[in-house]
Amino acid sequence: MIAIKSLHEIEKMKVAGRIAGAALREAGRAVRPGITTAELDAIVRSCIEAQGATPTFLGYGGFPASACVSVNEQVIHGIPSRKTVLCEGDLVKIDVGACKDGYNGDCAATFGVGKISDEARRLIRVTRECFFEAMKVARPGYRISDMSSAIQTYAEAAGYGVVRKYVGHGVGAKLHEDPEVPNYRTAGKGPRLTPGMTLAVEPMINAGTPEVLTLKDGWCVVTADGKLSAHYENSILITNGDPFILTDNGEGTIIAEEMCE
Ligand code: MG
Repeated sequence: MIAIKSLHEIEKMKVAGRIAGAALREAGRAVRPGITTAELDAIVRSCIEAQGATPTFLGYGGFPASACVSVNEQVIHGIPSRKTVLCEGDLVKIDVGACKDGYNGDCAATFGVGKISDEARRLIRVTRECFFEAMKVARPGYRISDMSSAIQTYAEAAGYGVVRKYVGHGVGAKLHEDPEVPNYRTAGKGPRLTPGMTLAVEPMINAGTPEVLTLKDGWCVVTADGKLSAHYENSILITNGDPFILTDNGEGTIIAEEMCE
């Protein structure tokens, strides 16, 4: 069942979303050669806790950290580690969830570490643009499937593979709610978009094929072909008009290339 949020709930979603968005931006600003993924996780945690919120991911299904931090061919769910030191040219995905007053915000972005290749930069840009392609149809009169189709069409036109195994989702009192928001076309039209729906829209785009594998730690998802992957996510509210981006912290949505060198 898809939860349509009340105005009261939407206010809480806005607060949680802003906190998640601010923590993601802060971690993104800290990305540089030599920093560990555990340090990025610590930044996320302290930003969230400083706002009186809790990191949604910490302990979620047993996840051991506050942020998922995934490097290069790692797609999502990377476990932060003191042993993982970022190097010039790496591409790092940071995924953040914050819970405040019982409601969640969920967002992610991909950042370049120092100077990155043109190829990596293009993958980051196209993945973000996939999200905004979906935003063009994230309004009443369209369906979830229209967003899915917009993402897939844009990613594949750029020559990339769309991850099938993991999808976006409703977000609210729970981190993962109905409906699923696939980044690819599926059979059936999917639910109609209705004001008050809150969705985490999160294209996961591979430089190569869509196939992914899970590492032995049971969490980290990697591309099967070892090529780069990028991720971009915001929690959004469907309104009567343009979608409202809940995880924009007021500084605008994150454009990672502008934060890279
Ligand atoms: Mg998500």
